[in-house]
Amino acid sequence: MKKRLLLVGAGHAHLEVIRQYDDDPIENLEICLISPSEYQYYSGMFSGYTEGLYTEEQIRVNLRELTKKYGVNFVRKQATHIIPERKKLFCEGGAVYPFDVISFDIGSRSLPPDFTTSIARSVKPNYQFIDRINELRETTTPIVVGGGAAGCELAISIQMYKNKNNIDGHVKLVSSSEVLSAFPRRSSRKVKSLLEETGVQLWEKEEVIHIHDDYIITSANNRVRHTGVLWLGGPIGDPVFEATSIKLDDKGFAYVRPTLQFEDYNFIFGAGDCVTLRSNPHIDKSGVHAVKQGPILYNNLKAYFEGEALQKYEPQKNVLYILSVGDKKGFLLYGSFSLYGRQAWKLKHKIDTDFMEKYK
Ligand SMILES: Cc1cc2nc3c(=O)[nH]c(=O)nc-3n(C[C@H](O)[C@H](O)[C@H](O)COP(=O)(O)OP(=O)(O)OC[C@H]3O[C@@H](n4cnc5c(N)ncnc54)[C@H](O)[C@@H]3O)c2cc1C
Repeated sequence: MKKRLLLVGAGHAHLEVIRQYDDDPIENLEICLISPSEYQYYSGMFSGYTEGLYTEEQIRVNLRELTKKYGVNFVRKQATHIIPERKKLFCEGGAVYPFDVISFDIGSRSLPPDFTTSIARSVKPNYQFIDRINELRETTTPIVVGGGAAGCELAISIQMYKNKNNIDGHVKLVSSSEVLSAFPRRSSRKVKSLLEETGVQLWEKEEVIHIHDDYIITSANNRVRHTGVLWLGGPIGDPVFEATSIKLDDKGFAYVRPTLQFEDYNFIFGAGDCVTLRSNPHIDKSGVHAVKQGPILYNNLKAYFEGEALQKYEPQKNVLYILSVGDKKGFLLYGSFSLYGRQAWKLKHKIDTDFMEKYK
């Protein structure tokens, strides 16, 4: 009888697993991808879409077409929980999927539990992105919460869209620290000046304490009016691993070993944001790692089925970030090096379109 591999979530690493399965198949195996949308939206191009540089079609992969092309089954469902001991995955609506081996690449959530019933919205899971952004771009004073790379990029892109389309109002960016606080100070200052030049209003070192329908209250007791709130305050884990014996970090991400196997479970693999490497717990949740893990994940799944030795994933020390900062200009950050301008955007455009081309 054929063995069954479940791929849960169509994240970056799983797209690569599906592609490599065609090049280098695993004998006697059926693969099923389980993901809640027909499409995988690529976050590297979110800011370009928001500003109006890319269409919806350009920033998404059609999962039905991809899986059909490479001989993988596709089930459009959201996983709700797993019982590892029984080797069963449960999905919305009560469907149950038994497996021999399972791999998770489900990304992250961002809205903290305190605010789930508020008016604040998240772009994760990523198929929600288009609706959220389309709605927010048209309103007069949206608030973006979170001064990391994603928050800064989207605040600038929404403001650029408003400027280009003569939509009144300003985006407000609220950050509990200085913007881009994880990067060198001069990068933080540069992005701050770009935000201000574009017309984004900034509240730094203020935490959002309460969210009301048309205003928020910050830790400095400021009342900031809004017409919609987008929460980009940092990734947190999906509830799918809750109430299991799977070992999780303090944000709800599953601990994996360098082989991308879950701790205590050799038959559960994972990649991307939803896992934390025990050996390097502080590396950023970034698409770059999810992409680099893809080939190792496929190699290790194959090796596991074939009884061969597994490879180790060694994260690179510095990661290349290029923020799209409006009008086809980019801000590139690599360790202590930074570069602003059209060249940086061109490089980002090339990396992102090359990535998408592989799965179209
Ligand atoms: C606005 C923004 C811009 C960003 N820009 C960049 C960038 O330029 N470069 C970069 O490196 N990183 C960027 N990031 C970070 C990046 O989005 C994540 O680190 C990356 O998407 C993680 O990839 P992943 O493969 O783990 O998951 P994702 O790409 O998030 O994919 C997860 C998949 O799992 C599915 N899924 C979710 N929940 C379930 C479930 N319960 N059951 C089944 N399927 C599920 C989803 O539908 C999706 O198909 C950005 C983030 C944001 C918010």
